[in-house]
Amino acid sequence: MNQANAMLELNQVRLRFKQQQVLDCISLNQLTGEINCLLGPSGCGKSTLLKLIAGLIKPDSGTISMAGKELSSKRNVIAPEQRQIGMVFQDLALFPHLTVAENICFGLYQQPKQQQQQRLQQLLELIGLTAKAEQYPSALSGGQQQRVALARALAPKPKLLLLDEPFSGFDSHLKSTLVPELRQILKHEGITSLIVTHDQHEAFALADRVAVMNDGQVHQYDTPQQIYRCPASAFVARFIGSGQ
Ligand code: ADP
Ligand code: MG
Repeated sequence: MNQANAMLELNQVRLRFKQQQVLDCISLNQLTGEINCLLGPSGCGKSTLLKLIAGLIKPDSGTISMAGKELSSKRNVIAPEQRQIGMVFQDLALFPHLTVAENICFGLYQQPKQQQQQRLQQLLELIGLTAKAEQYPSALSGGQQQRVALARALAPKPKLLLLDEPFSGFDSHLKSTLVPELRQILKHEGITSLIVTHDQHEAFALADRVAVMNDGQVHQYDTPQQIYRCPASAFVARFIGSGQ
């Protein structure tokens, strides 16, 4: 793998909560522009790993680097707000008292108004919600709110975007349109993205490479095709085979 091209590097990251080894020797190397998924059953440590990368918690050992610069080791070398990382959490959390346009521009307050407007129009077009700019979140469907949350995270052009179960709570019909749409938007923006899901169909449809996790460990980190063809452990074979 070309190290010079790596956007996100995790090197032997470990974390315990009390007696539990929540993350055990996690190493990942995500290339610039790549979409990666963390795939695994509930409780395997996916969300905790995202929080470590965002800097909300610190690893016990190992290092996390972005674009060759160390972010975290046993301490946070770079503060969370200075990491140029965008996040979309499970519960979306749009600001209910702000319009769609205001929500999207929330992270752009330091930019000149004209620049904000340009970025806003570009993102509204990208998510297909130009007509809804002045609406409040309560007037939007779940899928539309999800797109606004994505646009808000993309607005400041973060170097890395973290999405935690972006489709949880959506029915399979809505997912089948939103999943390819999300991949298209992320590739259009060229943004390096790490997406957490427990749904293998979602992971395989979205990701260039998937890290299959269980019990705090990465069992396999490879392309969907390779994971499907050559599962690296009995767990991966079972998990993929079960169609969960
Ligand atoms: P996932 O996102 O894969 O469902 P999580 O990362 O949320 O899993 O949780 C991984 C494990 O860490 C679980 O066993 C969970 O109970 C435990 N855990 C998560 N957060 C905490 C915490 N703040 N304190 C103690 N244990 C935690
Ligand atoms: Mg989770």
